[in-house]
Amino acid sequence: MSASEHPARKLRPATRMVHGGTMRSQFGETSEALFLTQGFVYETAEAAEARFKGEQPGFVYSRFSNPTVAMFEERMALLEGAEAARATASGMAAVTAALMSLVRAGDHVVAARALFGSCLYIVEEWLPRFGVATTLVDGTDLDQWRAAMQSNTKVCFLESPTNPQLEILDIAAIAEIAHKGGAKLVVDNVFATPLLQQPFDLGADVVVYSTTKHIDGQGRCLGGCILAARDIIDGQIHNILRQTGPSLSPFNAWIMLKGLETLPLRVGQQTASAARVADALVGLPGVARVLYPFRDDHPQSALARRQMKGGGTVLALELDGGKAAAFRFANALEVVKISNNLGDAKSLITHPATTTHQRLKPETRAAMGIGEGMLRLSIGLEDIDDLIEDVTLAAMAAAR
Ligand SMILES: *Cc1c(COP(=O)(O)O)cnc(C)c1O
Repeated sequence: MSASEHPARKLRPATRMVHGGTMRSQFGETSEALFLTQGFVYETAEAAEARFKGEQPGFVYSRFSNPTVAMFEERMALLEGAEAARATASGMAAVTAALMSLVRAGDHVVAARALFGSCLYIVEEWLPRFGVATTLVDGTDLDQWRAAMQSNTKVCFLESPTNPQLEILDIAAIAEIAHKGGAKLVVDNVFATPLLQQPFDLGADVVVYSTTKHIDGQGRCLGGCILAARDIIDGQIHNILRQTGPSLSPFNAWIMLKGLETLPLRVGQQTASAARVADALVGLPGVARVLYPFRDDHPQSALARRQMKGGGTVLALELDGGKAAAFRFANALEVVKISNNLGDAKSLITHPATTTHQRLKPETRAAMGIGEGMLRLSIGLEDIDDLIEDVTLAAMAAAR
């Protein structure tokens, strides 16, 4: 037994993010190898037969098995404390495959209305086309979750903190409601990152990520990941992914794998900076409201502190003066860029009402608390003093 296999030797997350899942080739490379290959060759026809029948371990075809992708999946599973993980080509491929694999025609899904735009589309428009009924609720109201449950409810789906209002949903309470009704809880954990919130400890059955965000963390490629108990992954989820093919490219998997090595450093600094920028924004001219989960004036800060280890890398602000003021603020920024990604090394600002959430009816947006003066700010790795200076000057320009 090697030292790291000793039962008393439980490596801590930062160490696992550097070493976890590594499979070295015969060359003994230090850095994880990039296996840019579609398929694999076999010594003999008998070996190919055994590999295909699953009687011999090994890789078959990169649509569903590749060594670089497998290293990434194993490192993700170690980080999340999940039995198994499957990588996908994007976050939306992960969400779609996870939901589609858990339901069939005649089933019912309950989801919080405050979802990432494309997730809302899948729940509201795509699933019903295949005979899956869906009910959308205000995710912060537990009575609405209870009332929405039906005998055929198979899945409850949520994200927390939500985008862009940064509402906090009580994952443990919603897991209990789901399980009591015989449903599984799927949590989209992108905003919290695997470091700041562990949905499995709160009762979730499936956790999904867009690894496009913090896990790449440098704005290079798209990716996704589904994590769950082995029976859930090996059953429907593996089959759906294997047969339909939303596979993560080995090249992108390699970038994500290397991204995990620095994830704790990046998320730690980005979270600390986000908290400081949130504090700096309060009281600036024209800033009506700042939303950050770990600020005491956040309506659910107590719940946030209970289920998260940090407030996250994203904050939202509401400016007096609506869209015009929000646009003046965004246009006045020099360090922070206008974009719709988040979790990036570069700080990015988004005006949800005219971009990510423009498809929604104005009344739906208003009901969700997404005003015309709202901006979402994803904090990157720049010097904190440059960031504070940038938002301070922008607030002054917007208030003019
Ligand atoms: C970005 C995002 C997604 C979709 O991920 P892609 O990688 O862009 O497909 C899903 N959910 C949340 C919360 C996101 O932020």
